[in-house]
Amino acid sequence: MARVAVMRGDGIGPEVVDAMLSVLRECGSGIEVVMCEAGSEQWEKNSRRDATYIPDATMAELERADACFKGPTTTLPVPGAPRSVAVTLRQKFDLYANIRPCSTYERLTPGRRLECACFREATEGLYSGVESQVGPDAAIAIRKVTRRGCARLADAAMAWAEGHGMKSAVAITKRNILKRTDGIFWEEAQRAAAERGIKVSEVYIDNMAQQLVVAPGQFDGTVLLSTNLFMDIISELVSGLVGSIGLIHSANMGDSYAMFEAAHGSAPDIAGQGRANPAATILSGAWMAEHAGEADIGGAIRGATSLVINEGRSVTADIGGSASTSQMAGAIASAARASLRR
Ligand code: NAD
Repeated sequence: MARVAVMRGDGIGPEVVDAMLSVLRECGSGIEVVMCEAGSEQWEKNSRRDATYIPDATMAELERADACFKGPTTTLPVPGAPRSVAVTLRQKFDLYANIRPCSTYERLTPGRRLECACFREATEGLYSGVESQVGPDAAIAIRKVTRRGCARLADAAMAWAEGHGMKSAVAITKRNILKRTDGIFWEEAQRAAAERGIKVSEVYIDNMAQQLVVAPGQFDGTVLLSTNLFMDIISELVSGLVGSIGLIHSANMGDSYAMFEAAHGSAPDIAGQGRANPAATILSGAWMAEHAGEADIGGAIRGATSLVINEGRSVTADIGGSASTSQMAGAIASAARASLRR
């Protein structure tokens, strides 16, 4: 049986993570769940004493576990505050591929289909967090890009394309300006694509944003890959196209560890109100179940989530309904249980 460390996180985190855990439980998942604390709320409770949002006891549980699940966590944008929980864990466990599969739902975007997977290099780039002050009025941030980092992300993206029957990939760069860093990224994207017979094209980030807005259908059935910050932004743009950031699930994959999480943040504006869409977190949980060997449960939850979103009777306000977080999760759990019984 797999052992998973679960951090509920901040803001809407506890609401959506509890919803996800209840769906897994109701579907009969045998995953052993160990709850631990991480995030800015526990850091504040602890009188801001620690240099990190992740207490030592949590780090020890994460190391003991086979994988982990992270609820959204707030990162305070002030000098001296700890580094983001997600960035810290991606680097600590070398989780180089942040994968965000995105797909439209017929009820939300009638007649418009977009199914793509966003692959984001997650250990380097501008998120390396190497910043320095240059005198009182200037500061520098380093955008670190290595061939190894690009190669393994590109290999993972092309393996996904091959495994999911996707024939093409789009590498998002700004190589006309960032000739060296994006030069390496583009070389590795071409190599990895050629090795698997995938057609790859390069689109500059500014044009990509525009193309996604005016003609998103051209990216249906493709894998999109990019460096850390570029793909963080582009995948949020795609989330808007499919209907809500509350629908985008993700996994952070390394060679020997995985962390599952929704793509969205802690949404302080709606925290504690029962209005958060739990779908992204529930789908991330379904992926975790599949990763832990419970393919039937993961598949049933995925199917049930699509059904509930497309029916539209028990969905949250961001996708046109009036259900609460727990009502939507309950509807998904019932549909998933029904499908497992069949
Ligand atoms: P956000 O994703 O938290 O919220 C952006 C908007 O989307 C808000 O209007 C919010 O209400 C809405 N939203 C987000 N999730 C939703 C859901 N499940 N259902 C319905 N609506 C939802 O992004 P932000 O406001 O830029 O960031 C808030 C905090 O979250 C920041 O501290 C940021 O650092 C953190 N953050 C954490 C992660 C992570 O844990 N991986 C990711 C992004 C942002």
